[in-house]
Amino acid sequence: MQAPRQPASAPFHDSAADDTPIRGDSTQWQETQSPTSSELAECLFFSPEDGRIWLNDQRMLLMHSSSFGALRREFIDHMGLQRARGLFTRTGYQSGARDAQLIRTRWPNADRTAVFFAGTRLHSLEGMTKVEPLHFKFDADSGFYEGEFLWHHSCEADEHIAACGIGQDSACWTEIGYATGYVSGLFGRLVIFREVECRAMGHKVCRVIGKTAEQWGDVSADLACLYATDSSAAAPTAPPTAPRAQAVTTDQLVPIGASAAFTAARHALQRVAPTPATVLIGGESGAGKELFARELHRLSPRSEASFVALNCAAIPENLIEAELFGVERGAYTGASHSRPGRFERAHQGTLFLDEIACLSLPGQGKLLRALQEREVERVGGGQPIRVDVRVVAATNVDLRQEVKAGRFREDLFYRLNVYPITLPPLRERRDDIPLLADAFLTRYCRDYGRTPAGLTMRALKALLLYDFPGNVRELQNLIERGLIASDEGRPIDLVHLFHNEPMPPQLYSISQAGTLTTAVEAPAKAASGSLLERLQALQITPDLDGLEKRLLDEALAKADGNLAAAARLLGLSRAQFAYRLKKHGNGQAAQPSG
Ligand code: ZN
Repeated sequence: MQAPRQPASAPFHDSAADDTPIRGDSTQWQETQSPTSSELAECLFFSPEDGRIWLNDQRMLLMHSSSFGALRREFIDHMGLQRARGLFTRTGYQSGARDAQLIRTRWPNADRTAVFFAGTRLHSLEGMTKVEPLHFKFDADSGFYEGEFLWHHSCEADEHIAACGIGQDSACWTEIGYATGYVSGLFGRLVIFREVECRAMGHKVCRVIGKTAEQWGDVSADLACLYATDSSAAAPTAPPTAPRAQAVTTDQLVPIGASAAFTAARHALQRVAPTPATVLIGGESGAGKELFARELHRLSPRSEASFVALNCAAIPENLIEAELFGVERGAYTGASHSRPGRFERAHQGTLFLDEIACLSLPGQGKLLRALQEREVERVGGGQPIRVDVRVVAATNVDLRQEVKAGRFREDLFYRLNVYPITLPPLRERRDDIPLLADAFLTRYCRDYGRTPAGLTMRALKALLLYDFPGNVRELQNLIERGLIASDEGRPIDLVHLFHNEPMPPQLYSISQAGTLTTAVEAPAKAASGSLLERLQALQITPDLDGLEKRLLDEALAKADGNLAAAARLLGLSRAQFAYRLKKHGNGQAAQPSG
């Protein structure tokens, strides 16, 4: 559990374009200001075919309120009230701080007061409680914040009452943590919220007041909940917003990701990097194997020496030996100069051999010998040359299968397979898509001299659902293409991203009425509302008489010849149906039964 050592740093000032002071008053707020309720609702969307729920770029969880209550009760029973309270307060703080970050990055230039209001709406949207802001006022320059809110039908109060009954203490711990995390994350200093009334104490609604620590005076009890002081808790770390923000701004020359699958691969890499072990990296094309190999080199004791890469699939078979081991002058016609091979050039460094399965069997034999003897012989030269090289090989095929099929030497396979790392395809680490998209966008905006304007919501949604057969490289290409196709200063939209790729399945979003609606329509499907184009797609010539006859016939067939039933299918009376049928000279076909 992370604990906030201090309020999330880098408030609004992280947006270079915006240096207006952090000051505002709820009385100045207008409902039409961005982010509006519907803009916020747009951020929440469901991707049922993929088993994910998103709040903008954060994966969310839909949890039964009663399960939350049961979990809470178990914690209270096992840890005691005070420690459980701290745990849930910190959990809430994380959510609030993340939502503050979402609003900051999505609406960097929004009105200050509207941004503070957005937190109350997100809190409601996420189903914790209905927030009614009574008033709030803030001024970062003088360090002043004061706000008062009502929380109606708080989920946590319900669950607490169900588990423990009405008591002496307030119970909306997660929600207090959320408010503290959200407001502190925007304000840039710790703003502490307290429940002065709570339904779990027998009040009608929960009443909440927020002030800075200085304004409250003694806040030691609040801080005890916010900071994981218990030794059994994980060591406190930086505010929750920091690591992600860093990951986004880091240059793309390092692997980027925060998903569980990516993190597992990255941990494996960090573990093996300081050792001299040979590493075999597996994963689909475009998954970032070379980037991982470079990172391995960077983190290794060899980082001062060269990283040399060779793609075995890109070199003709008859030249690969010369590429790997070098050539002596006069070794063959045209070899007018001696030159070192990749092994020699990687001396004391790292040699990355991509698509190792493409190496011929004779080539494999020579590679094995170089690995075993730690020396190479140039083509046409008799003198063995000592080399100290760490080999990192990569493959997008299953080398065991290649061994079984007799296309890959078993002894070389075991020599390379000392420490295998498998990189997940992008579709198995979708949580990283927003991070990667953001990093690529930042990079290409810089390279192309463009003003970053982000992606539209539906473009981001489509990316989150797309399967990425070409993995990270394909995402990179889509972003570059999207930037070229979009106008300066305007966000990249769906139409700029996808051209001939198979479009992702439909997405579902929440409408303001709370119903699920389709969130993304593929550009190709944009005309699907047109009956004419649908008929053309079905290769039905739209002549009106023919259409009418066809509809009548189909209705009749569906109704097993029952005239009244067929008429109902087309919204006609039996007489109207019979008349039209007769018009088409089909009067005898139907049995005038029913
Ligand atoms: Zn309460």
